[in-house]
Amino acid sequence: MRRYGEEVRRKGETLGFVPTMGALHKGHGELIGRAKRENNRVVVSIFVNPTQFGPSEDYDRYPRTWEEDYAYLNSLGVDAVFAPPVEEVYPVYPPRVFVEVESLTQHFCGKSRPGHFRGVATVVTKLLNILLPHRAYFGEKDYQQWKVVSALVQELLLPVEIVPVPTVREEDGLACSSRNRYLSPQERKEAGKIFQAMVKVQDLFQKGERRAEILRSKLRRELKKIPGVKVDYAEIADPHTLLPIKKGEMGEGRILLAVYLGGTRLIDNLPLTLRKEVV
Ligand code: AMP
Repeated sequence: MRRYGEEVRRKGETLGFVPTMGALHKGHGELIGRAKRENNRVVVSIFVNPTQFGPSEDYDRYPRTWEEDYAYLNSLGVDAVFAPPVEEVYPVYPPRVFVEVESLTQHFCGKSRPGHFRGVATVVTKLLNILLPHRAYFGEKDYQQWKVVSALVQELLLPVEIVPVPTVREEDGLACSSRNRYLSPQERKEAGKIFQAMVKVQDLFQKGERRAEILRSKLRRELKKIPGVKVDYAEIADPHTLLPIKKGEMGEGRILLAVYLGGTRLIDNLPLTLRKEVV
C-alpha cells in the first residue's frame, strides 16, 4: 500500500482514501463516489479495528462480509482495497503507542465508550501514515469521529485534507449503518422514528425556539415515545467544540444522540442552523 501510494504520487495523480470497517452499504458507496469524483485514484480500506471496541462491545460479532464487500467495491470501480491483518497494523500488541484527542472526546460517544476515540485516532493516523493520500473521506453520520479526525490531522500536521460527506439515509430516514443488520424487523420499523424525532427538534428550532433545554427535552420526549428505544445520550452540542449546550439561548448547534434498540447501539445527528439543511 505504501508503494502504491508512492507510485500514484510520483505520476502526479491524486489519491483519495475511504477508511471503513467493511459490511459496506450505500453510505460507504457515497463516500467512495465522492472520492472518485475528486481524485484520480481511490483506495478503500476494510479493517475492523480492535482498539476502538470496549471489552464488552461487539468486536467479535461485528459483521465481516468480505465476499460481498469485495464485489461491491469492484462494481464501484475502486482502484485498490486495503484489508490488512491486525498484526500488520499493530506490530506490537497490546500497542504501546496511541493518539489521544482531548476535549472533543469528553462527551457523547467518548464518555459512553471509554477508549473508543483513542482507538479511532490511532488507527486513522496509522492508515493515513501508510498511504499518505491527498484526501480522506469521513461520514457526518459519525459527527464526533469526523471532528476528532479533523483535529488530529490539524494538530499532528498530517498533509491530508479531511472531507466530510453528508449522512446517507434509508427511505424512512434511518441513517445507513453496518449495525442496522442486527435489528429485528420490528426494531427496524421503529428505528426510522429516531430521525423523525430529530426533525421535530429541527422544526422547533426553525420556528424560533433557541432555548437549549427546551430543544433537548423535546428530543428526549420524542425518543421516549419510540417503543424499545433506550437513550444512551440525547443532547444539543456546540457544533465546533462538541461541548453540550445545557441551558439558555443558543446560536447554531448539533443534535447528537445514541440509543439502544434491543442490543443494537445506533447513533445519529442533525444540524441546528438558521438555514434548514437536512443531512
Ligand atoms: P464504518 O465502516 O462504519 O467505520 O464507516 C466508515 C466510514 O463511512 C465512516 O467515515 C462513516 O462515517 C461513514 N459512514 C457510515 N455510515 C454512513 C452513512 N449512513 N452516511 C455517510 N457516511 C457513512
